[in-house]
Amino acid sequence: MTKHAAFSSQAVLTAVAAPAPAGPHFSTFAPPLKGGALHCKKHVGLHVDLAATGVAVGGSWLESMKASSPRSAGGGENGDWTEMHPSALARFEAALGAAKGMKIVVFLDYDGTLSPIVEDPDRGFMSEEMRDAVRCVAEHFPTAIVSGRCRDKVFDFVKLTELYYAGSHGMDIEGPANHVQANAEAAVRYQAGSELLPVIEEVYHTLTAKMAPIAGAMVENNKYCLSVHFRCVREEEWESMNEVRSVLKEYPDLKLTHGRKVLEIRPSIKWDKGKALEFLLSSLGYAGRDDVFPIYIGDDRTDEDAFKVLRGMGQGIGILVSNFPKETAASYSLRHPAEVIEFLDKLAKYSKQGDGAAATMAI
Ligand SMILES: [Mg+2]
Repeated sequence: MTKHAAFSSQAVLTAVAAPAPAGPHFSTFAPPLKGGALHCKKHVGLHVDLAATGVAVGGSWLESMKASSPRSAGGGENGDWTEMHPSALARFEAALGAAKGMKIVVFLDYDGTLSPIVEDPDRGFMSEEMRDAVRCVAEHFPTAIVSGRCRDKVFDFVKLTELYYAGSHGMDIEGPANHVQANAEAAVRYQAGSELLPVIEEVYHTLTAKMAPIAGAMVENNKYCLSVHFRCVREEEWESMNEVRSVLKEYPDLKLTHGRKVLEIRPSIKWDKGKALEFLLSSLGYAGRDDVFPIYIGDDRTDEDAFKVLRGMGQGIGILVSNFPKETAASYSLRHPAEVIEFLDKLAKYSKQGDGAAATMAI
């Protein structure tokens, strides 16, 4: 049983009513497509959105892939880095100090945050211990999963109906399933770029054929975006992944970004995990309020958009999951999913302390 009113059907109704009076699908929130025509297979320059993902523009394609996919700790700068991005466990009290009296909202990436990165993306399961930790946190605070995977797939992994799910990098958002039953029209829902679904499907089939000869390459259809995984491709073969870029040159309505051993293809719309965070806060009725404290935990470049939003808001904390230093806009760090469990456990206990903070934080 959740302890915050945000998950009541009435609260969800209220959350929807405020930002999008037009209806439950939030059509008024849909950002415009850059292209316009949908099946425009033209020879137009590919939009490789490296700047948005923090990759230095100007480096080679291969260098960008390597920069997005570091494999181990490098150099002896760990000390400086952990001073700049201290452990959210070791510095828990300091991290949550500013949350006193504020309403906490929790955002969680999935792969590499709630589950370990595994060779087969279809086997990226989360542990029961992690599921329990997420469930406990969601009893006290509105909690959302924000993933690059399609919403249905990430729900199949997490299996908690009380959460918000933002799939396909936030392009496909839906509120807690256990309240949809109460009022189907009341669910928080947002779908961006749905006009491009046939194009994405077409590219999926093309890329699947093109990647077939590359040992270890795998194309994942996330409905609103595609992921080309190369975590199992030998590094000497990474250059052959350039084929993805060649295919994308034909589709100006799609853009290519780099993730951790993955190339992401999505609609060329101004929408990312940071926008998803803002949308969900707005849906909960927290837009522009200074008494909200979002906590976002993620491990990938795509999570940086959300970390930057929090920096811009000057509220809440971003926590990067990484066991080695890397450039980030997050304030704090955790080393791996096992530490995420510890942090979530502490957060749930923190809400139960019964002090002023806990009482006022519960929504
Ligand atoms: Mg991740």
